[in-house]
Amino acid sequence: MGFRLAIGGISHETNTFCNPTPLADFHRLEGEAIVAANRGVRSYLGGMIDAAERVGATVVPTYDAGATPSGGAPAADFAEMVARLTGAIRAVLPVDAVCLALHGAGAAEGCDDIETVILEAVRAAVGPKIPIAATLDLHGNLRPEMLPPATALFGVHLYPHEDSYERGIEAVEFLARYLQGGVRPTMHLEPFPLLFSSATSDEEPVRSVNAYCQELERRPGVIDVTFFHGFSHTDVPDMGASVLAITDGDPDLARALAKDVARHVWARRGEFDIVRPGAEAAVREALAFVEASGGPVVLNDYSDNPGGGGPGDGTHLLRALLAANRPRTAFAFIYDPQVAAQAHAAGTGATIEVRMGGRTYPLHGDPVVGKAYVKALTDGRFVATTPMGRGRRVDLGRMARLVMGEVDVLVSSVRTQVLDPEVFLLHGIDVTRYDIVALKSANHFRAGFRDLAKRIMTADTPGWTTGNVRNLPYRRIGRPIWPLDPETRYERE
Ligand SMILES: [Zn+2]
Repeated sequence: MGFRLAIGGISHETNTFCNPTPLADFHRLEGEAIVAANRGVRSYLGGMIDAAERVGATVVPTYDAGATPSGGAPAADFAEMVARLTGAIRAVLPVDAVCLALHGAGAAEGCDDIETVILEAVRAAVGPKIPIAATLDLHGNLRPEMLPPATALFGVHLYPHEDSYERGIEAVEFLARYLQGGVRPTMHLEPFPLLFSSATSDEEPVRSVNAYCQELERRPGVIDVTFFHGFSHTDVPDMGASVLAITDGDPDLARALAKDVARHVWARRGEFDIVRPGAEAAVREALAFVEASGGPVVLNDYSDNPGGGGPGDGTHLLRALLAANRPRTAFAFIYDPQVAAQAHAAGTGATIEVRMGGRTYPLHGDPVVGKAYVKALTDGRFVATTPMGRGRRVDLGRMARLVMGEVDVLVSSVRTQVLDPEVFLLHGIDVTRYDIVALKSANHFRAGFRDLAKRIMTADTPGWTTGNVRNLPYRRIGRPIWPLDPETRYERE
């Protein structure tokens, strides 16, 4: 069937403990540039574009904005993005349906829940009859107010979010069925008082929670059942976990399924309280593993994850690796445009004195000071190869491979997490020949590194993306919440 499908979005995962994110830090695409950036890419919008072609819909791209996680946007900047999105949608009316790529853990100055504001604004722009579907990140802190302006909301099930492309497809196929009169969705959101930092779907307990959700989705009349982890770094009243169930015209079933999954997770809450070692202990454990079983050990810097708001220039783990000073150790990457520029000015083969990282927050450690040999210099450009956004053109700005003692250290000019072994290859490093491959990411790196790692190990140092929620200075989240308040109850137990 032919129909006109407006696509677009505003996406931000807001770490309220970090510095604000001004409009200039958002990528902002309009019209056909959205299609050019996402066609053939494993992203939410890439899935929407491919699915639209398959169901015979005409894609009408509108406005898309997104930024690397950090603090919320200033109020005027957020208002401008909403005005651009709704203005772009109004300009292409009439459309038959709207599909948006949102996040769920977005906040802005003076606004604890940007997604509800966005959905209500788009609803006002298109009127009450046009279906609006949206994709969401499972780290969304969902609240019931989000539901009424939307027709259906589809969250990723996997962390790493390897199914964002599939959720884009699912949302558009849902809209096609809806327009044919084939489905009348009803949603139930079940928030429950569980707080935890990220937990991968590669392992328990999330793996079997997801298997259970999938089992429920196969029942007749069930459209979707998604476990939302919440984002533990958004200090807003509605932060926390939830389950969203969508059924075809059966609100009682939606409520029953959402509560069922929430109870199931709640019963296993102890498994979400994961304690990870600090930098020195993690390096010691990694080296012991290499000694006994060989490498590579992929060692991730959990608490300076730029993908969750971390500054990318934290030095705790790098310092521990430099102190260990073992050969076949590589680290990617410190965000430090000044050192990258210094290395480019000096040229390959030069030895420079660096004062690297530690520029943004004292919590993330002092700068690393010392001699560095400039081994390789690049433009930081490559095409993503992992299921996390495969096909996307990546540009990390001027980069350098420095050698400090025995350790290879990559330096970038863009703040982002490490997802892809390709960034090592770009600098001549075949990570499969290394013993210790350290990188800044909490979990998404698994999609690119799980197959080559002999073991994945994690360091959790002081930092604004720490997994130790007891160390975060919450002021506004709803209490009681488990595990901060050990006596917390969900329903009557
Ligand atoms: Zn996420």
